[in-house]
Amino acid sequence: MSRVCSAAGSAAPSLGPLTKSATPVDPERYRLARRRRYEAQATAAALLPGERVSRCGWRPIEGHIGISCRDGRHYISNARVCGSVWTCPNCASKVATRRADELNAAVNSWTDQGGSVWLLTLTIDHVRKNTLEDLVKRFTEAMRKLWAGKWSASWRSDSGQVGTVRNIELTWGATNGWHPHCHALLFVGSDEVSCFESRIKERWQSVAARFGFSVSLKRGATLELVTDGRVVSDYVNKDETATWGAAHELTWANIKTARGQRFTPFALLAACDLSEVSAAPALFQEYADAFKGRRQLYWSKGLRDRLGFNAELTDEDVANAQDGQAEFVAAVDTSIFCWIKARGFLPDLLDAADDFGLNGINAFLGWAYERRAIAAGQTHPRLSGVWSEGSGERSEHLDRQRTPAVFAYA
Ligand SMILES: [Zn+2]
Repeated sequence: MSRVCSAAGSAAPSLGPLTKSATPVDPERYRLARRRRYEAQATAAALLPGERVSRCGWRPIEGHIGISCRDGRHYISNARVCGSVWTCPNCASKVATRRADELNAAVNSWTDQGGSVWLLTLTIDHVRKNTLEDLVKRFTEAMRKLWAGKWSASWRSDSGQVGTVRNIELTWGATNGWHPHCHALLFVGSDEVSCFESRIKERWQSVAARFGFSVSLKRGATLELVTDGRVVSDYVNKDETATWGAAHELTWANIKTARGQRFTPFALLAACDLSEVSAAPALFQEYADAFKGRRQLYWSKGLRDRLGFNAELTDEDVANAQDGQAEFVAAVDTSIFCWIKARGFLPDLLDAADDFGLNGINAFLGWAYERRAIAAGQTHPRLSGVWSEGSGERSEHLDRQRTPAVFAYA
């Protein structure tokens, strides 16, 4: 079959540069998202006591745990983290951001060569009475088979497709249970999406049927052109902390807020805290079992080489990589750090750091040392703490004039 649309290296128009992913957002929304991540991480650790997430962020990589700053935002640095993209909201956020940057670079690289990128979304009709493990296994196999055989050779030839990057996502709803879907970036030679959409719809319906899934011909597969790194996706609620692009569509799977009555895995964690869904703890554990050991993104063979990318880092390596452009602000003794973390006060420490820099860190650590001493029945030279534990009022009690230098040092 001859080529239907233009291919890479031909007259396909360049799509121009992508918008950078790390665009500033409202500070209060950022803080709220950070606080939720820490709360959800603590919930996940409690639900999965034997898993890596339960050990995430408690010990320094070397020396002391640090507090670093970039663009006015403080974060915990030099802590050994778990890198679990499926179960740890903090690591998932960090890994997703870096993977999204890499995907954006991949899209840039390809479009600079005259190619195009499409976002493919694959869904199935709701299925019941499946174990999640079986459902995910069959769905993954169906996604893999989509690009196998003669059909694929013809598709690649016609579209100029040189590779794909895909993910798998999951939501849960009370009515229909678990529901997987997939996003994939297709690196192709044509920007004429419409010539290809019906072909992929039919193909997905046929392949999915082999694995026991029924698929709507209309909704089962959609194909959208990625322009300037973006697609218009009205079915995705944007995360509070990121500017949304096609790359985020793939890497922020767990982190997205569920739509309506459907919960993403991390929304289930929040539901545990709120006692919103009685089955949420068991559902999250089931999900963690089914996704353990799975990769977040699948790059098709040869695509990274073609785009001039190095071998892919593991999630753990990405999560533990330190930000070379951040400013190291303070080191925190491990014992008091763990005291703060165990009581859920890390977001407060970071809020204080954002508001008052090193002085805020010092003040907060002063309060923490006092509280710990009081709890241990010890006398302490500084009992007039500037923080109170009243819920939601802590930051309002920080006195700008009283910033005792108790422990933090630059
Ligand atoms: Zn982690």
